[in-house]
Amino acid sequence: MSGQERLGGLVAALLADDGSKAWPGAVPRRLGSVLGTMPAAARTGVRAAAAAVDAYAAVRTGRRLHGLTPDERETVLASLASRRALLPVLDAVKVPVMLAAGTERMIHEEPAPPPVSAPEDPPLDCVPSVEWPDRSTADAVVIGSGAGGAIAARTLARAGMRVLVLEEGRRHTTAEFGRRAPLDRFGELYRDGGGTIALGNPPVVLPVGRAVGGTTVVNSGTCYRTPDHVLTRWRDSYGLGMADADSFGECLDEVERTLQVATAPLDVLGRNGRTALLGAEKLGWQAAPLRRNATNCKGSCQCVVGCPTGAKQSVQLSVLPDACAAGARIVTGAYVQRVLVEKDRPGGPRACGVVVRRPDGSELEILSPLVVVAAGALHSPPLLRRSGLGGHPRLGRNLAIHPAASVAGRFTEPVTAWRGVLQSVGVEELHSDGILIEATAGPPGMGSFVLPGVGRALRRELDGAESLATLGAMIADLPSGRVMGARRTLLRYDLARRDGERLMRAVGAMGKVLFAAGAEEVLTGIPAAPKAHSQAQLEKMLRGLTAKQLHLSAFHPTGTVALGADPQTAPADTEGRLRGVQGVLIADGSALPSCPEVNPQLTIMATALAVSGAAATVAQSA
Ligand SMILES: Cc1cc2nc3c(=O)[nH]c(=O)nc-3n(C[C@H](O)[C@H](O)[C@H](O)COP(=O)(O)OP(=O)(O)OC[C@H]3O[C@@H](n4cnc5c(N)ncnc54)[C@H](O)[C@@H]3O)c2cc1C
Ligand code: SF4
Repeated sequence: MSGQERLGGLVAALLADDGSKAWPGAVPRRLGSVLGTMPAAARTGVRAAAAAVDAYAAVRTGRRLHGLTPDERETVLASLASRRALLPVLDAVKVPVMLAAGTERMIHEEPAPPPVSAPEDPPLDCVPSVEWPDRSTADAVVIGSGAGGAIAARTLARAGMRVLVLEEGRRHTTAEFGRRAPLDRFGELYRDGGGTIALGNPPVVLPVGRAVGGTTVVNSGTCYRTPDHVLTRWRDSYGLGMADADSFGECLDEVERTLQVATAPLDVLGRNGRTALLGAEKLGWQAAPLRRNATNCKGSCQCVVGCPTGAKQSVQLSVLPDACAAGARIVTGAYVQRVLVEKDRPGGPRACGVVVRRPDGSELEILSPLVVVAAGALHSPPLLRRSGLGGHPRLGRNLAIHPAASVAGRFTEPVTAWRGVLQSVGVEELHSDGILIEATAGPPGMGSFVLPGVGRALRRELDGAESLATLGAMIADLPSGRVMGARRTLLRYDLARRDGERLMRAVGAMGKVLFAAGAEEVLTGIPAAPKAHSQAQLEKMLRGLTAKQLHLSAFHPTGTVALGADPQTAPADTEGRLRGVQGVLIADGSALPSCPEVNPQLTIMATALAVSGAAATVAQSA
């Protein structure tokens, strides 16, 4: 039997497809393309789980899933779902199936949204690596064009340096975003098709972007300034002079001006955000619309797959055009294999350029006395190891991620969470305890993967998806993770007991907000305890569970090449210079000494501004 037939049988069973609607028939093909964008290991895992479900059907009935009637499939799945030990198998296949199903259902059944006229993007000086010469020179190369890399490039270019930004991904335009379904963009804009996983118990899904603009292209646009107590800790415990509230505040001000940060207006917030505000108000909890970098937001709820209206000022629309206007150039499809180091130089080793691999496997070399590493907290450590610069014992360690869980509430009225701002409201009542709740909806067709049940029960949930409101909560975590590897990135994250307890409390708190807003039931996303009909029931359920049973994701990796005064604990010094070599600066999420306790883009950009500003001053005075 072909793998496609097996997936077809599984989809039909999971979605209780009786042929009465057209869209379920289109799901197996869409699922095939979702799997095609996933890393090989994840794809194999899903296919193995599908084979296991099929084998279970064969043992029970003597026939494979695709040969059973709808009633027989329902009986097989119900029997499988009643065995707790087998729930993880069903879970592994459900997520991609639900993403594919949500998308097909939306395409077939939702009225098409009114076409948005995409504005033309500001110009960028992008050159594909295949067109770049084999040998060239620069005053500075910046590896990675995301939050940190973009600001560093702009700062150095404005100081008069010849800057080249090297980006593994390609340029995506606003017009392109408007032409394709959200799920289709997802696979392309994220590394590993969005399936990057940190191993641990529980494992954590940790997606990062790969494009000109880095993860800012796919982020939610929420803009928090670094909290004062975090800056004080960085200054006093890590010796980071740049974290002085006044000078760092100026960097944050400059970043905010560039990104046009403002509070999300109520008229585009959408019902998801307004539900969170209502719940918080009923509880007397502190909550408000978030500050965002999208002043002309149209509420199309697609920030995490590229804003199709050009409202979200991710760095390819804001910072990088400034950098290019100041003379920086961006080489795309440019995977930096290693930093070149002159080892036997008097005065110690010094970086002198980079070797870049093009998509066709050929190489090019750029000589440069300054190399700015901004490949993101998951990819900067392996790059430094590949370059023979990974000797510091703490390099790759100290990974904090802000682990996050989500919860949905079912209301009697439609919420239609995917109409409005994707991440709209912050509930800050428990922020001082390390828990930040944010009303966050999935893009159209992509929000239904938390739905409980299988077969007809799941189909009913899917058909009622309009009446769900969704919240997410992230916690300030201990640096419990590690980035390993040199050629390939391997991630490990062992959730600390304290952080597990925080997450369980966060789930309870999200339920409280939803029930206070009038939810009839709350969906936890936890297969062993999927629904509660009252806060008391939810709390009781949670007492019988641990964080190991949560479905965790995380979006904010930081800290893996941390800055600090202590040479024993910090791979980079307080000005962002990598220790043990001259001419290498760290200017991305890796640089943060600890998690910033808020969505990190402003903090990363302000840090990159401080680091590159200091280097530009030195270069100008030399
Ligand atoms: C879904 C999602 C939503 C988010 N929402 C928010 C939010 O609302 N607010 C917020 O503050 N933060 C948010 N974040 C996080 C924020 O966007 C990131 O923390 C930030 O972009 C990280 O910046 P960075 O410079 O460290 O790396 P990135 O922005 O990830 O940039 C790194 C770049 O380096 C490139 N690269 C890697 N290796 C190489 C190599 N060897 N050669 C060449 N190029 C390379 C990558 O392709 C990438 O483009 C979100 C993240 C995600 C995933
Ligand atoms: S909600 Fe829609 S319009 Fe607003 S920033 Fe996000 S993607 Fe753009």
